[in-house]
Amino acid sequence: MSVTGTPLLELRDVRAAYDGIGVLHGVDLTVGAGQVVALLGPNGAGKTTALKVAAGVHPPSGGRLLLGGRDVTGARAGDLARSGVCLIPEGRGVFPNLSVRDNLWMMTFTGRSREEIEDAAYARFPVLGFRRAQAAGTLSGGEQQMLALARGLTTDPAVLLLDELSMGLAPLIVTGLYEQVADIARQGVGVLVVEQFAAAVLKIADHAAVLARGRIPWQGHPDSSLHTELSAYYLGSAP
Ligand code: ATP
Repeated sequence: MSVTGTPLLELRDVRAAYDGIGVLHGVDLTVGAGQVVALLGPNGAGKTTALKVAAGVHPPSGGRLLLGGRDVTGARAGDLARSGVCLIPEGRGVFPNLSVRDNLWMMTFTGRSREEIEDAAYARFPVLGFRRAQAAGTLSGGEQQMLALARGLTTDPAVLLLDELSMGLAPLIVTGLYEQVADIARQGVGVLVVEQFAAAVLKIADHAAVLARGRIPWQGHPDSSLHTELSAYYLGSAP
C-alpha cells in the first residue's frame, strides 16, 4: 500500500548515540497506515537502535520523531505506547515462567477483559489456545513470537515495530508469521520491521530501506534492484 496523507510514523534526520558514540547519522523513514516497511541491513548497522528511537526507548541525539504528524521527539516510551506505538523486541518479550493465558491476562491493563483478549489471541493464532495452560518458555520459538504479537495487539497499536521476527525460526514458520503481519497491516496498522535477512519480509513489504553504518543509502520499492543493493552492503563492497 502506498502512503497517502500524513504518515503514522516519521523519523526525520534521526541521529542516535551510545555514550557519545554515534550509531545513527541522519535516518529518514516514513511508515503510513496499512503499510509494511522493512528496515534491512547487516549486523550492527543500527536497525534496533532505530526501532528504539521510534518507540521512545532510546532518545535521539538529533532529528525529529513524528507520530501522526505530531512532533513527539523526546517523548517517553510509556507515552508513545499510550499513543499507539507497540515495540515487539528481539527475543520475543514474553514471560517464560508464566502460562500462555497468564501472559495474555497481564494485558488486561489495556481495559479489555480476559475473555476478550484470549478470544482475539486464539482466533488469530489457534495453536495458542491449545497451549493456553503451558508455560510460555516451553513453547516453540514461532509460538513464542505468536504470543508476543498477540500481547502487542491487545494494545490496539497504530504502529507496530517488530525486531527480527524471524530470528532462529524455520522459513515456513517465518512465512506464516509474516502472513499474519500482512493481515495486521491490512487492518490499517503501520508496521516497521527490522530484519537482517530479507527474504521473508520482502514478500509482504510495501517499502524497503537499507541501513548501513547508521545511514540509509537506499530506499524504495522492494524490487530486484534492492537485491543488488543488499548484497553490496552485506558483502561490504559498497562505499
Ligand atoms: P543487530 O542485528 O546486531 O542487532 P543492529 O543493526 O540492530 O544489529 P544495533 O543493535 O542498533 O544494530 O547496534 C548498532 C551499534 O550500536 C552497534 O555497534 C552496537 O554495538 C551499538 N550498541 C547497541 N546497543 C548499545 C548499547 N546499549 N550500548 C552501547 N552500544 C550499543
